[in-house]
Amino acid sequence: MGIQGTFDEWRGDLLEDLETTAGGIFRKVIWLTARDEHVCLLCLNRDGKSYSVEEVKKILGGEFCKPKDPDDRCRCTFIVDESSLIETDQMEE
Ligand SMILES: [Zn+2]
Repeated sequence: MGIQGTFDEWRGDLLEDLETTAGGIFRKVIWLTARDEHVCLLCLNRDGKSYSVEEVKKILGGEFCKPKDPDDRCRCTFIVDESSLIETDQMEE
């Protein structure tokens, strides 16, 4: 494969990003696309919206990204949803 990698690699990258971002400290993350003309419609629909970690995993389990250009790849990232901070007394571990 080229530099864009495989669909499974995008999924792996996003799952890793999800874990790093939420880190067991936040219940939700906000989906962010690259916000340019290459962003696919599927991702565009999720841009700026808040999803629980479980919801993101569910989304990533399906066909979450369809780049218009075969040489493109999913470039989405996550940022924390500040309002979803998990109370420390509810934290596991
Ligand atoms: Zn995408």
